[in-house]
Amino acid sequence: MSEIGHYISGARTAGTSGNSQPVYNPATGDVAADVALASRGEVDAAVAAAKEAFPDWSGQTPLKRARVLSQFKTILWERMADLAEAISAEHGKTHEDAVGEVTRGLEVVEFAVGIPTHLQGDFSANVGSGVDSYSVRSPLGVVAGITPFNFPAMVPMWMFPVALACGNTFVLKPSERDPSASLLIAEWLTEAGLPDGVFNVVQGGKEAVDALLENPDVRAISFVGSTPIAKYIHRTGTANGKRVQALGGAKNHAVIMPDADLDMAANALMGAAFGSAGERCMAVSVAVPVTDAVADALIEKLVPKIEALKIGPSTDSASEMGPLVTKEHLEKVRGLIGRGEEEGAQIVVDGRDFRQDKQGFENGYYIGGTLIDRVEPQMDVWKEEIFGPVLSMVRRASYQEAVDLIHAHNYANGTAIFTRDGDAGRRFAQDIEVGMVGVNVPIPVPMAFHSFGGWKDSIFSDHAMHGMEGVRFYTRIKTTTMRWPTGVRTDAEFSMPTLG
Ligand code: NAD
Repeated sequence: MSEIGHYISGARTAGTSGNSQPVYNPATGDVAADVALASRGEVDAAVAAAKEAFPDWSGQTPLKRARVLSQFKTILWERMADLAEAISAEHGKTHEDAVGEVTRGLEVVEFAVGIPTHLQGDFSANVGSGVDSYSVRSPLGVVAGITPFNFPAMVPMWMFPVALACGNTFVLKPSERDPSASLLIAEWLTEAGLPDGVFNVVQGGKEAVDALLENPDVRAISFVGSTPIAKYIHRTGTANGKRVQALGGAKNHAVIMPDADLDMAANALMGAAFGSAGERCMAVSVAVPVTDAVADALIEKLVPKIEALKIGPSTDSASEMGPLVTKEHLEKVRGLIGRGEEEGAQIVVDGRDFRQDKQGFENGYYIGGTLIDRVEPQMDVWKEEIFGPVLSMVRRASYQEAVDLIHAHNYANGTAIFTRDGDAGRRFAQDIEVGMVGVNVPIPVPMAFHSFGGWKDSIFSDHAMHGMEGVRFYTRIKTTTMRWPTGVRTDAEFSMPTLG
């Protein structure tokens, strides 16, 4: 059994802790490899390598750093299919979906290549007579990223391209469930000309995360994952004096107004609820049709589409949806559907009945698409993030009731409204207390030059990720006030300077 190790100082390194855990191929249920779990000492070695690389890297011009990232971008374009295959083999998502993930990550690299412009400071001439003032953004030092299983390439790429472009050095702790993509990325960064130690990968679980949280040389932590862990990371990291951005879970609602194009809405819901088997933080997991008539018409359109979903391995190009990531996660999703049934919701399409009959894939972690109608806010299926191919439906009688429902949830990552009424769309975008909003757009993931982040329990941070928010997170501001004497001055000034 091969062991997936770390990447420190520009080379793959084997784990030395003696701890490892299996990585599964979710399409077959087989163990594909073992992943090393880093000890505190191994994490500290990666941080030390990043610390050593910092002075040279941060001392290079932004343009030179941008050129390395530009070269990395070229490699990513050329080898996108290889990275997508590595993702699908451990995550289970379809090849096309994995290519989409890499593309969205690559867009952040494209943003980061513009770093000379993004780092431009502010200059004020004559803030006092003969006095000028300017502000510049400086890198922080060693920064770390801790990432979830559901986007093993894209989420790290929300972080490191901007962090590196700003002049920081980086330690990535990927999800232990799909660790291979991170090593390909690390190798390609080295090939692109990134100096050794600037980007490092440590595989591992809680011990590795705690080592990063406690290492005084780590200046900032970017985290994406579930809300309980996001809260823990934010609390512990900030208590240890670090800058922390921690993005958490989600429960995204789509409101379908009576004037919506229902065919468009039904197709949009299919992709948003069942794409990537619902394992997306921007998946739409709750449809909120306004009026019973809209609910009934929508169900009529959705049921045949859900029943026709092509569920299979990523190696079959006909697959529209792959398996869930692990057996435990499959059991959790099944359990939550069962709980909804017990709580009185109506299972319209039951994915628990799905059996994979493709030869060799019978033991994969597959589940069918599920539609649950008449879900209400007191039910666990509404309160909890299911993170599977399960679309709940909460019927509401008016626009305001739909908005109130969304506002009642702790999570506020993304949301959408389907309507033909410009006034309703605009009002929704303005009023809704959610970080990312779509109007007739089901998965409103902001482009790389905007920033990604929810509100409420979906984020614990003052800064969202990538775009200018990323630049702000990975830099600290320095303001210089400068006066050049016009003659030799001999008198000292003892009162507070006022620059008049
Ligand atoms: P997770 O919280 O289980 O794991 C995320 C990371 O935290 C992993 O690297 C993991 O090793 C580490 N971790 C897990 N338990 C830990 C512990 N006790 N102490 C320290 N570190 C620990 O999340 P996941 O299951 O990998 O990913 C799915 C979750 O991520 C969902 O809740 C999803 O909504 C969320 N997510 C959010 C966004 C967003 O932008 N808000 C994006 C993607 C995923």
